[in-house]
Amino acid sequence: MRKKFTLKKKEHELTGIPRLNKGFRVVLVKALSRMPREVAEWAAEKLIFSSESGDAKALFLNKEGWGRKRGFIFFSNALMDESEDAQTFMVAHEIAHIKLNHRSLLLNPDMAEEDMIRQETEADALAEKWLAPF
Ligand SMILES: [Zn+2]
Repeated sequence: MRKKFTLKKKEHELTGIPRLNKGFRVVLVKALSRMPREVAEWAAEKLIFSSESGDAKALFLNKEGWGRKRGFIFFSNALMDESEDAQTFMVAHEIAHIKLNHRSLLLNPDMAEEDMIRQETEADALAEKWLAPF
């Protein structure tokens, strides 16, 4: 049986998880605990997670944080309206985009539609693989 994934205090600080409110933290830890352990540990170490309803009223990121970090994942309040399975899948899907070195639509708004569709299909496939029961 897969061991439950927990976040050590140090990892909380590194991931910016304190910037997530409790609801988002619960969603994130649940999702990470269902993913392969090495992927969850990579994500906790290398990604920054944030939400618009974290503790801070405003925050910034500058380049000092990016040396070790490989990506940024933003959670919208709308995520909280989803079922637990859908939340888990969405978290895994976003992590998959970063693992696959996909180009962000945010930074590449003129990305060709076929590239966007290919990226979405690939991220779905990897998230499904990670979350497959074994
Ligand atoms: Zn996507």
